[in-house]
Amino acid sequence: MATQLDFTTFHNVINGKLTSTKETRHNINPATGEANAEVSVSTAEDVDAAVAAAQEAFKSWSKTSHDEREKALLAYADAIEAHAGQFQDLLVLEQGKPKQLASFEVVTAVSSIRANAKLELKPVVLEDTPEKKAIQRFTPLGVAVGIVPWNFPLMIAALKIGPAVITGNTIIIKPSPFTPYTDIKVVELAQQFFPPGVIQILSGDDSLGPMLTEHPGPAKISFTGSSFTGKKVMASASKTLKRVTLELGGNDPAIICEDVDIEQVVPKIAFAAFINSGQVCVAIKRIFVHESIHEKFRDALVRAVKDFKLGDGNEEGVTHGPIQNSMQFEKVKDLFAEIEKEKWSVATGGRTDLGRPGYFIEPTIIDRPPIDSRIVTEEPFGPIVPIVTWNDEASVIKEANNTKMGLGASVWTKDLDRAQRIAEQLEAGCVWINNHLEPSVNSSFGGHKESGIGYEGGLGGLMGYCNAQSIHIKKQ
Ligand code: NAD
Repeated sequence: MATQLDFTTFHNVINGKLTSTKETRHNINPATGEANAEVSVSTAEDVDAAVAAAQEAFKSWSKTSHDEREKALLAYADAIEAHAGQFQDLLVLEQGKPKQLASFEVVTAVSSIRANAKLELKPVVLEDTPEKKAIQRFTPLGVAVGIVPWNFPLMIAALKIGPAVITGNTIIIKPSPFTPYTDIKVVELAQQFFPPGVIQILSGDDSLGPMLTEHPGPAKISFTGSSFTGKKVMASASKTLKRVTLELGGNDPAIICEDVDIEQVVPKIAFAAFINSGQVCVAIKRIFVHESIHEKFRDALVRAVKDFKLGDGNEEGVTHGPIQNSMQFEKVKDLFAEIEKEKWSVATGGRTDLGRPGYFIEPTIIDRPPIDSRIVTEEPFGPIVPIVTWNDEASVIKEANNTKMGLGASVWTKDLDRAQRIAEQLEAGCVWINNHLEPSVNSSFGGHKESGIGYEGGLGGLMGYCNAQSIHIKKQ
């Protein structure tokens, strides 16, 4: 049974100990503008100390049995679950999302740790003859660094901790400066189940990420964030040939065919386009609707979006929260400024000044903007989505693929053969049919093109934390 945590103070965790820094900083609750608690601003000395502790811990952790690691991870997952209410409240406070989405995030973090705990990359005998035996095995890399964005801080940290630790690596979590709080607590909780140095956390300002990717100690960077930053991470990691997994941005198309049941499909599209106020890498970001159902579909989507309740995630009935931080708020507002300049047709929403504290923006649908406009070509990462019409299957596939991104995509039709035919031509790491977002246990999650390198999930995700080693035994 885990000891209770104090959810009001926040420290780095280095070598099993809670540590403080001379300088501290804090964030604000994006729904109210009120200050959250102080957190550490890590220095180069903190990075050196954490990397050294992780390297030391790796020596013995990498030699533990799979059973031992599995047991520790499962007990850890139980402890996170036992604190679910506190993690949920903290997520609402720091990220701004509604309670029910925060609760989903905690559940997903727990289930991903449990799923990874059960996975094992067993050695495979490739060849066994009287003369020769060949074995393929996977060995842990060493120290991993998990760099986490601000949209799903708890879930994304968990998606890195599970596979790193079950394969015998140690890991240092670096949260986004905008959302350090749940990550700090989940790593503090880990100290009750793992030896010092196996799971650590450093919080800090914008200088911390580069300090970690430049450091010669870590062997692996698992990064989730924008494609822009992902390229910098890769450039930095290349100096010491660190392994990288890059989970980056997306501009997901949803292709809606003419035979769909509009009333059934529209709520799902509205959900997947506006979840977390659009701040989701695999949210629907371009809606391609068959032109024969365009008006009916648009009007139903407008009705669904008008039913959303915007507000503080703790308020009863709130379905959508604010933009998480001022930087993103300004970016999204800049895109909204195009509405007037480019004379886009607004089907619903359009306002960015709602006359209240917090970074709130009205959920907005842009009806049939030009295909080369910013709202179609860029990832807004906010509550605004364009509807584009189509009438020819080959052309819509071409348009859907006409982007450097390739994270997710979906096809919506009653004709499953047609859906699969379209799906197989889409350049994206996850393609859903009559759905968007719902994961399957142990499926791969990663991007094609500039949406990423490598992937997370399942045994393949574990391989991202391992070296492959072939042992060739000559028997005579
Ligand atoms: P971001 O790239 O600005 O930051 C991500 C993380 O990288 C943060 O922890 C940040 O502090 C750190 N960082 C910034 N500069 C760095 C540098 N030079 N070196 C090392 N680390 C650095 O992204 P964000 O704004 O936090 O998140 C939004 C983006 O993330 C969107 O593009 C979204 O699509 C993407 N995202 C992708 C996935 C996925 O799984 N593919 C999931 C969530 C978010």
